[in-house]
Amino acid sequence: MPELPEVETTAALVRPHVVGRRIVGSEVGWVRTLGGASPEAFDEAVRGAVIAAVERRAKWILIELERRGRAAGTILCHLRMTGRLVVDADAGTQPYERVALRLEGPGRERSRLRFLDVRKFGRFRFEPDPAAFLSNLGPEPLGPGFTAEWFRAALRRRDRALKPLLLDQGFLAGLGNIYVDESLFRAGLHPLRLASRVPRDRADALHAAIREVLAAAVEREGSSFDTFYRTPEGQPGQYQHLFQVYGRDGQPCPRCGRAVKKLVVGQRGTHICTRCQPAPRRRSR
Ligand SMILES: [Zn+2]
Repeated sequence: MPELPEVETTAALVRPHVVGRRIVGSEVGWVRTLGGASPEAFDEAVRGAVIAAVERRAKWILIELERRGRAAGTILCHLRMTGRLVVDADAGTQPYERVALRLEGPGRERSRLRFLDVRKFGRFRFEPDPAAFLSNLGPEPLGPGFTAEWFRAALRRRDRALKPLLLDQGFLAGLGNIYVDESLFRAGLHPLRLASRVPRDRADALHAAIREVLAAAVEREGSSFDTFYRTPEGQPGQYQHLFQVYGRDGQPCPRCGRAVKKLVVGQRGTHICTRCQPAPRRRSR
């Protein structure tokens, strides 16, 4: 499932092909992708608007619209399991195409931004007030608000196991199963450790690991370990070659050689080294 690095890559590669273009029409192949709007209402909201910017917040891609130079709402795109954005010629329909925007450039050149989604869980919805829609998200882990001091204090206040806490988008934005497992391994922390009991030096190690793992994955255009995630240019990401534990159950831990183990934490497949990430001691009753 795409996480911060895959969504960041998608936004970065789509951006130069769509910013400055006018939406001259839309086509909807799967109504639920619009998140509750009718195809007519969606078309009315976006038709005639110019794409002013393409940004990312958490796992959302923000396609910011304007009319006569003034903000005119945002299309919020969530890739969920199998969503992809591609830009190509303004003709025909591609397999698994759920929504498409027909675009016109300054020289009247035509193109089409397509949201393809095999499993149909993704969203491509218009929001007049995106700030309100996104207001419950935690800080961006690669942004200036995610400091070691903030993270230490935030962990201390949470009596929750680390893995479900780090997956909670309201706590910290953009992480998913892959990058949580990779970060916890690098910090030597078991996914069931209670956040409030993580010592200061381990909290700092986890903070650094999260930033390093995400930055390295963005640099390699994300991770492609199945047939779904591809960049808008059709290329797989490359970070899967650097996985130390994720999807490596039974293979040797790169640090100590013990076989990586797969367990289930909060219904999510979780990969750890039981020697490098010791289990928390049970609290006495
Ligand atoms: Zn190990």
